[in-house]
Amino acid sequence: MEAETIAVLKRLIRFDTTNPPGNELPLAEWIHQAFGAEGIESQLLVPAPNRAVVVARIRGDGRRRPVLLLAHMDVVGVERDKWSCDPFGGIIRDGYLYGRGAIDDKGMLAANVMALLLIRRDVVAGGLKLERDVVFVATSDEEAGGDAGMKWLVENHRDLLDAEFAINEGGRTRVLPDGKRYLAIQTAEKVSHTVTVTARGPAGHAAIPREGNAIFALASALEKLSHYSEPIALTETTRRFFGELAQVWSDERERSAMRALASATGEQQLTEPASILARNPVFNAVLRNTISPTLLGGGVRTNVIPAEVSAGMNVRTLPGHSIEDVVSRIRRVVPDEDIEITTSSHGVDSPASNPDSPMFAALARTAKELDPEIAVVHYLGTGATDSAQLRRLGINAYGILPFPMVPGDEARMHGHDERVPIASLHFGTRLIYGSVRRIATAAT
Ligand SMILES: [Zn+2]
Repeated sequence: MEAETIAVLKRLIRFDTTNPPGNELPLAEWIHQAFGAEGIESQLLVPAPNRAVVVARIRGDGRRRPVLLLAHMDVVGVERDKWSCDPFGGIIRDGYLYGRGAIDDKGMLAANVMALLLIRRDVVAGGLKLERDVVFVATSDEEAGGDAGMKWLVENHRDLLDAEFAINEGGRTRVLPDGKRYLAIQTAEKVSHTVTVTARGPAGHAAIPREGNAIFALASALEKLSHYSEPIALTETTRRFFGELAQVWSDERERSAMRALASATGEQQLTEPASILARNPVFNAVLRNTISPTLLGGGVRTNVIPAEVSAGMNVRTLPGHSIEDVVSRIRRVVPDEDIEITTSSHGVDSPASNPDSPMFAALARTAKELDPEIAVVHYLGTGATDSAQLRRLGINAYGILPFPMVPGDEARMHGHDERVPIASLHFGTRLIYGSVRRIATAAT
């Protein structure tokens, strides 16, 4: 199984599916054929020229609703000169398998392919009885919004996605500096919006300055916002996250802050522990709605005063929070009438997945069998994944990244010399295979 997993991942990496343009079709054909060769029912769909979706299925007796294994086939681009090896070579060096997509998302795609093949072999050779269908879905275009992938699939083949549970990317398996490990299973995610701040003023020749320069007005508005943070807010997910993470967290002050936060009963009890934890940027981002200015626009040349300038801000709201409420709080921080504040793109909220489901339990139990010391935590994703769309369809989606990694390796995602530790690749494959086998059979 281990040699086969490595061979599959190498093969997947060698298809250059850099998006744009994606060109996922040849990779999809390879998966489709690999399944066909073992008698697995598989469909190859083509949402756009040279794009693809593979939906494969091993049928159960229908007593329960299906479980879905999801991964995307496209990858982000590379700066080849910054890599120490060929990003599409699938090279092994010093215990790592290198290549674009090794951890986002071809590693998981390989683990999902293996899980399906192994379950099929269990059914054929071992007489394994499935109580629900195991459905494999590989999409294109995830890294560019999913118009030729998940969005297309939801709009055109909603029936293929019928499932009670889904496993997707979006979580983490972290190895801390002291060697302790935790599996973070993403059960909810923040919602991304764009808020535009626009300042207007008298235009004219730069040689004759006038009161009310739009750039100064915008700078002053942004300066006020730079001192503003949204209020702390715990969700069911983050309350569990901090309580569970405390089990493996070595910093004593932060650990007791996590426990205090998890057991807080009123607003006042949140303030002190939250202020300790919010110094960590990742914890800060799960404790509140966040505001990041990301774009500046305006002006045509240095000797012309522009009439209008604007700043684009990415605002990420916690599940259940409204962007309108955030904008009205921003309005109070920047009350100036000549500043316009508008929500230029609205994200769509999605409900959290059931945090106590048999799927969550199957992942947790399988992880503990593979590594008795590992902690399992609920996780609020700060990024956006396709799971939001699944949750809106009523599917309980769980985000994982099943490969235990130190922060330095995790940081290579979308970066240079992306790689997966070989031992972690095998852990992740066993975790997915074991959890799916567990949820699809009567065994618990
Ligand atoms: Zn991804």
